[in-house]
Amino acid sequence: MNRIVVHYHEIALKRGNRPAFIRRLVENIGATLRGTGVKRIRSLPGRIVVHLKADSDHDVIRSRMRRVCGVANFSMAYRCEPIIDDMIETSLKAIGSTPFASFAVRCKRSDKGFPMTSMDVDRMVGAAVVEKLGARVDLTRPELSVRIEILPRETFVSVEKVAGVGGLPSGISGRVVGLLSGGIDSPVAAYRMMRRGAQVELVHFHGAPYQDHTSREKAAELAQLLAHYQLRSRLHLVAFGEIQSRIVAAVPRPYRVVLYRRMMVRIAAAIAAQVDCAALVTGESLGQVASQTLENMIAVEDASPLPILRPLVGMDKIEITDQARHIGTFETSIQPDQDCCQLFVPEHPATRMTVAEARAAEEPLDIPAFIEQALRETEVKEFRFPVAEESDAGEELEATAASARDWSA
Ligand code: ATP
Ligand code: MG
Repeated sequence: MNRIVVHYHEIALKRGNRPAFIRRLVENIGATLRGTGVKRIRSLPGRIVVHLKADSDHDVIRSRMRRVCGVANFSMAYRCEPIIDDMIETSLKAIGSTPFASFAVRCKRSDKGFPMTSMDVDRMVGAAVVEKLGARVDLTRPELSVRIEILPRETFVSVEKVAGVGGLPSGISGRVVGLLSGGIDSPVAAYRMMRRGAQVELVHFHGAPYQDHTSREKAAELAQLLAHYQLRSRLHLVAFGEIQSRIVAAVPRPYRVVLYRRMMVRIAAAIAAQVDCAALVTGESLGQVASQTLENMIAVEDASPLPILRPLVGMDKIEITDQARHIGTFETSIQPDQDCCQLFVPEHPATRMTVAEARAAEEPLDIPAFIEQALRETEVKEFRFPVAEESDAGEELEATAASARDWSA
């Protein structure tokens, strides 16, 4: 195979913004596939085509392409001339030694000037496959589909279609801060925002000096995993234990969790201001635990100078867990850690705290001083995907963004 044919659907709907979206998708594909043997990336009407070197690593390419936000599906394909004999020969080559009993040929003709109809092409290529390989045609449930895309100057033939992440290319919808605990939910929440095109800065609160480093290590591992979807993740690690101990000393027991959260959103918003982010994102799901009742969500939101986005708010734990498995964060999330929310927390936290109660309980606290202290004690780590290797340094990709611009012009 010498090409990847990439299809996007949602992008195609956004007429006005399309060129910018496609340019970003081309750039993201180029960055994702760094080091795998890519020669060139071109944007053609309705699709992006990646030219591969002869020694490109197809398995690595498939696994990376599955995680590029904005890709609806992609196929590893062969290019040939838009000539029927070439299409037949290339189809047989694409099938190779793949075992199958039944098949269908599906031709799409984007070049309306091509002299044959799609059905003619299906029939002729199909007849050649039957003759050569003795397989049976099954148009409703074929074991193998031979896909032929005829464009004005070239044709692509493939026998696979791999589903992508869908959504929008990472980086085109603005910047947000994702509050990343070590749990199952918040990495999924961050992913769902990335899939909608947001760049997510990650913030993790840990219980140092009262707790060990396990939650920090988990957060770092999750940030690296999430970098697969947004190429670059920055993780802000905030030492929160000292601030928690001061909250604990000043407020009634059952209020602690909500007040921790109110401090967290204030600090996260202060970080957001430094890194130019417009909203916060949490993994909250309505009613999942005591701290996530509607009342408590409102009590927490009251302290936040920025809007809080909750992409999982209407999802069940089972749906969220399935998604965590699917995106590859589940195994890390279930590792044991010392979670700062458990620090000094009573067995029965308040499930319904009003805004007035929260504000009153906070009166003795010097909140600006806490925020300042937290910012001073924040450590920032950066994660990239693919993890840079020495050998990649000299690699050059033909001006990818330029070709996207050409087409959109
Ligand atoms: P998760 O599985 O994401 O930990 P959870 O079900 O444990 O969520 P909570 O502990 O109530 O729920 O946390 C709700 C949200 O608050 C989390 O999804 C996360 O966005 C944020 N959060 C909680 N703890 C932390 C933390 N230590 N650092 C950063 N964000 C946190
Ligand atoms: Mg949690």
